[in-house]
Order: sequence, then C-alpha cells, then structure tokens
Amino acid sequence: MTLAWPATASIPECKRSSLAKAVPADQVEAAARQQYRQMLQQASNERALVSTDEPQLQRLRSIAARIIPFTPACNPRASEWRWEVNLIASRSINAFCMPGGKIAFFYGILAELQLDDDEVAMIMGHEAAHALLEHAREQMSKGALTTGGLRLLSALFGLGQLGDLAAQAGAQLLTLKFSRDDEGEADRLGLQMAARAGYDPRSGVTLWQKMMRAGGSKPPQILSTHPTGPARIKDIESKLPEVLPVFQAAPKPPKRYSPAPPLPAARPRQP
Ligand SMILES: [Zn+2]
Repeated sequence: MTLAWPATASIPECKRSSLAKAVPADQVEAAARQQYRQMLQQASNERALVSTDEPQLQRLRSIAARIIPFTPACNPRASEWRWEVNLIASRSINAFCMPGGKIAFFYGILAELQLDDDEVAMIMGHEAAHALLEHAREQMSKGALTTGGLRLLSALFGLGQLGDLAAQAGAQLLTLKFSRDDEGEADRLGLQMAARAGYDPRSGVTLWQKMMRAGGSKPPQILSTHPTGPARIKDIESKLPEVLPVFQAAPKPPKRYSPAPPLPAARPRQP
C-alpha cells in the first residue's frame, strides 16, 4: 500500500506539552496494561468479551490497523506499544484508548449511535490521540501533588502495601476526566490521523452531533470523561478546510462495514 503521507511524516498537531512529567511513561503504561487485562478478564468472566469472529470487532481492528501506522511519528514510544483493540458486549456508550495503545469499544457506542466507519475512525483517532499526547501521564504528574496522587505514585512505583492500590491506579486511568484543552488537542490530532488513514473528517461533526443527542436524560458515559459542548463541533468545522484535502488525497479503505445491528430494547428492571 502506498501512503499519500509517509507514515513517518510529522503531524504538527502531535506537539506534546513540555510540562514536566513526574511520572515515567513506562510506569503509566504498565499500570494501564494491568488495568486493561483486569477489565478484559472481568468481561470474559461475564461472557461479555466479544470474540474475534464477530464482524464488529473485525471492523474495529481493521480501522485501527489503518490509523496505527501514523502513530510513531507522533510519539516514538508508540512503535513499541502492543496495540490491542477489544469490544465489550455492553450497552454503555463508551470507548477509550489507555496509555500504551490499549483500546476498548463498548457495543452501545456502535449500536446506539449507529456509527459508520468514518465516525468510528474519528473516535479511534481521538482516543489514540489522548494516548499519544500522554494526557493521562500529564494528569497523573499534576496529581502527584495531591494525597490521592501520592498514593497513586507509590502504587505505580511498587511502593504500595496492597495490590489493590495498583488496581486503583489503573482504575483511575479508566475514569480519567480530560480537560477541555486536552479534548481540543485530541480532536485535532485525531482528525489528522483518521484523514491520513482515509476516513472522512466531516464525520467528526456528525459523530459529536449524535453523541450530544444520545442518551436523553442519561448522557453517554463517554461524555463524563470527555467533556464537550457546542464549541467542540465549531472547532472541528473550522479544521475541515485544512484536513479535507488530506483525506481526499489519502488511499481509502478497501472495505466498508455495516453499522452494528441495533440492540434489542432493554428489559424493564424488576421491581
Ligand atoms: Zn477525549
């Protein structure tokens, strides 16, 4: 495959903040790895880990495979990451990429939002961007000054007395709330990577429109960790003139996948 953009070409949006990061990257990635394994184990125990023959999982992995080649140019550590993509059979409208390239999608985000491949790629690009820009590491480093942060650090460095401290450190990675600034950075880098991978950046607009419409009184879980507002869609729109030509010149995916079959209505809860 010839890439319109050599995978090594730098992406200006990759610029990471020079904020001193007190927590070493490999420690953050180790904590993420551990928490990811625990999550997969738990999902597997509950028979909620989607198997590799499921077309929606193949779909996620094929989209990831087009985006991942662009990641080491952004963060050299990414060439060493063991990227993983898994699908959890849950109604939750959620997805994440933990430090070290550990991606999970929850079935609800595919089915409830009826995402097309471009929209999935926008989420994937956005989540991968958080990992590449080391937003979690930055937050943990800032948090090092708080009591919770100290506990977290001691757990990360193996100083904690109890194994579950390390688990807490990981759990914190799963529930990390990004700042609006982080969100903007992840949107801009995500758009660039997904466009290079051949996905239409205009779907960044439709994706966040769907996200904001979804859930009614109970907003999608992903919005609790990725704060959003009307300004986000405007920002994405303002990037389109720059990123559309990138998409237009990029080789396109050879195969398009159908959206996930809708979920049956939830059973009413027993009183
Ligand atoms: Zn985000």
